[in-house]
Amino acid sequence: MQTLLRKHWHSMPSQEVGSLLDSSFEKGLTSKETADRQERFGPNALTAREEVGPVKRFLLQCHQPLVYILLIAGITTLLLQEWVDAIVIFSVVLVNACIGFIQESKALKAIDALSRTMSSEATVIRDGVKKVIPASELVPGDIVVLISGSKVPADLRLFHNRELQIDESMLTGESLPVEKTSDTIDQDIVLADRKNLAFSSTLVTFGTGKGVVVATGNDTEIGRISQLINAAEVLETPLTRKIAQFSHTLVYIILGMALLTFLVGALRGQPWIEMFMAAVALSVGAIPEGLPAAVTITLAIGVTRMSKRNAIIRKLPAVETLGSTTIICSDKTGTLTQNQMTVQEIYAGGTHFTVSGIGYQPEGHIRHAEKPEEDGRSPALDEILRAGLLCNDSNLLCEEDVWSVEGDPTEGALLVSAKKAGQEMDKTVKEFPRIDSIPFESEYQYMATLHKTPSNECVVYVKGSAESILSRCNQSVNPLGEISSFDKEKIHALVEQLAAKGLRVLAFARLEMGSDARSITHDDITRNLTFLGLQAMIDPPRPEAVTSVRNCHAAGIDVKMITGDHIGTAKAIAEQIGLDQFGVHQEGQILSAIQGKDLASLDGEELIQAVKNNSVFARVAPEQKLRIVEALQSQGHVVAMTGDGVNDAPALRRADIGIAMGITGTEVSREAADMVLTDDNFSSIESAVEEGRGVFDNLIKFIVWTLPTNLGEGLVIMAAIFAGVALPILPVQILWINMSTAVLLGLMLAFEPKESGIMQRQPRDPKVSILTKPVVMRVLLVGFLLLFGSFALFKMVLQQGGSLEVARTVSVNVFVFGEMFYLFNCRSLTRSMFAIGLFSNLWLIGGVLTMALLQVLYVYAPFMNKMFQSAPLGLKEWAWILAFSFMIYTIVGIEKWIRFSSNKIGKMS
Ligand code: ADP
Ligand code: MG
Repeated sequence: MQTLLRKHWHSMPSQEVGSLLDSSFEKGLTSKETADRQERFGPNALTAREEVGPVKRFLLQCHQPLVYILLIAGITTLLLQEWVDAIVIFSVVLVNACIGFIQESKALKAIDALSRTMSSEATVIRDGVKKVIPASELVPGDIVVLISGSKVPADLRLFHNRELQIDESMLTGESLPVEKTSDTIDQDIVLADRKNLAFSSTLVTFGTGKGVVVATGNDTEIGRISQLINAAEVLETPLTRKIAQFSHTLVYIILGMALLTFLVGALRGQPWIEMFMAAVALSVGAIPEGLPAAVTITLAIGVTRMSKRNAIIRKLPAVETLGSTTIICSDKTGTLTQNQMTVQEIYAGGTHFTVSGIGYQPEGHIRHAEKPEEDGRSPALDEILRAGLLCNDSNLLCEEDVWSVEGDPTEGALLVSAKKAGQEMDKTVKEFPRIDSIPFESEYQYMATLHKTPSNECVVYVKGSAESILSRCNQSVNPLGEISSFDKEKIHALVEQLAAKGLRVLAFARLEMGSDARSITHDDITRNLTFLGLQAMIDPPRPEAVTSVRNCHAAGIDVKMITGDHIGTAKAIAEQIGLDQFGVHQEGQILSAIQGKDLASLDGEELIQAVKNNSVFARVAPEQKLRIVEALQSQGHVVAMTGDGVNDAPALRRADIGIAMGITGTEVSREAADMVLTDDNFSSIESAVEEGRGVFDNLIKFIVWTLPTNLGEGLVIMAAIFAGVALPILPVQILWINMSTAVLLGLMLAFEPKESGIMQRQPRDPKVSILTKPVVMRVLLVGFLLLFGSFALFKMVLQQGGSLEVARTVSVNVFVFGEMFYLFNCRSLTRSMFAIGLFSNLWLIGGVLTMALLQVLYVYAPFMNKMFQSAPLGLKEWAWILAFSFMIYTIVGIEKWIRFSSNKIGKMS
């Protein structure tokens, strides 16, 4: 192979490109050749380049109003030559930035790693066979097959295309898909118009095509314009934004309070340096330093927990939004059902047959429905089975006696039914070689393939939904396979009957084409087809979906089924799953279903009512999904919507939570989604909602825990100045309290397991502020208790003749131990810690023990005494401190009990 200088691939005939790259369009590269080239060209991946360097990211940690106050305080203390205070303040800033930096890096890494687990795949032809490989293994010269919904895995020169359309917006910014060609074009045409090239990372939105790889990795166009892949997700969510706003407001309040304190003190004639230090103490005390870190950590833990339950978060805000989901719109096939198709009934040439056996194991018999003792056999049956086998892109695999399907399970089931009648795939495919095909697209609801017959004629086999096929047929066959008239109404009625049993019905037809047909288009098969019959398959509901739907209902979340399948099938499955059980208090409510085409004619209020009142949406085209989402959102619902096809992308983007399928979904849908299910299972959505609620709970727990301390500390300083007495706590001491307790106590709440009643509450209203009345009341209660305790004990020690150092040490310990006991209250917002298990969060126990140990050091270690002006305490002081802390625990316990005793589900609002 010649050196791979950048060539004008678009202006060369495709054959020449093939030979320049030493590749065969039919056979592809050999495995040996690919191995050599992999060595030479390296993996087909863009080298990641970090968007924000670590230094900048570290400095960004200090870019917060709260930290600015600390910095100003630090610099001023430096100027005032208060060395110890300055050192402590700066180390707090440093520690804070370090924690933030480490946590953020960890969270970024976690998200990055998750997005990597979903690396893309490519369909290639190598050694003459079609196979699916990781896109990173592509080399120049590989032959790549593109289908609608896939992501172009490298830069390709197309040599075959069928209505191929590609969305190149990430490269050119042009949002309309580009129609591709395989013809040679002029050399000086600009990049965007090189329509015989397909560029890496762009998305196939329609049609199919084949191309030869001309560039991989950083040599691709996308690699050249941006060396940036997996651009780090922004760690911002509605909540972090709200908290940022909250801190902004808080800064003004705190500054105001500090100023007031300073003025009051100074007017009383107290030394202004001392008053300034008091104002600093107040500011640093009232600032909840741990808050941003706690939020990030809690969210990151949520992302990890969700990924363990098969839900991969692509966009961080989803973690939070999940908790307030009110409606889940789910696909039927594969998400609520097992996608384990087995043909059970066949109707061919006017005769009914039943098929025994279950799963993909081709063991079972096809029997005449009326004469079950004899094997069913007829030319018409043979033909419908052959049509199912030929009009098919899937593969039946057998490994160690376990049969499985590669490709669409619906099609796999047809291979199995043909095999049960003794039709061998290899042999049939050789007898009827495929000349052309139109792949299945949800819009058309059918697939067609053109074949050469053994007698050298050409025939098209078409399969699809009963509606789409029957409308194109004008005749039928008798049991002998001879042309006969047919009664469409009778067939439609039969389809209804099969669908009502929950069977998925496929109809089959053929069209004779003469001997020189080369290709087929949609126009060729609009009429005059010959109806061959039906194959009806079961796709059992997932047993776990039944439980999950029930759990969702209990959690106040409605579940709606949206499917391309027949309305009868959809209703039958919906009933088996229990979708009709939501809000059954309405007397005699029955499951109501509506078809996409009926929805299409509705507008405004009518549409809203239809969307609200129906639980099943059948024969829905992707654009109807978007309308359903919008109608629901207009009613204030928070909507989660699943989707797998290319055309689902707009609905996925529009939904509050767009959910894509990890196994069967297209690359395009995954790209548009907020969350990807690795197992395509409805239950994973329910788990994610549950985790989402848990995450939010834990955030509230942290906030409820941290704010009273800040309030208490601020109040203590203010009260002391206003009362004209010595400060019960010094600025450095306040910093000590805040930093050590935030890390060792507060953060441990992020590890709190979910509470048991979490899926029995109504969804959280995202519009309601985090600071609900109970939260505010609690913060005030505990804040004032801390103020009272520290002040009272401080005074008492002084009155009993203790030194100022001892009194302050007592005050500090009231805060630390008060927070420690209060931490146990905060483990559940509404229940006592005994109700949720004393040892269910070992992290927290560990944190508490470490904190207690540290506090002993603070009191007794000489270096601590020197740094923080603390002093050793006697037993009596300890007894007071512990008694008071225990009192806080008890009072809050009683408050919780009064407020929530009738509330068994642990919601704080
Ligand atoms: P869903 O996956 O929700 O059942 P689809 O849009 O995939 O919806 O399918 C819609 C209808 O198209 C199905 O009910 C079936 O009749 C038909 N169909 C599904 N898969 C195929 C296929 N591979 N080939 C032909 N027809 C199909
Ligand atoms: Mg489908």
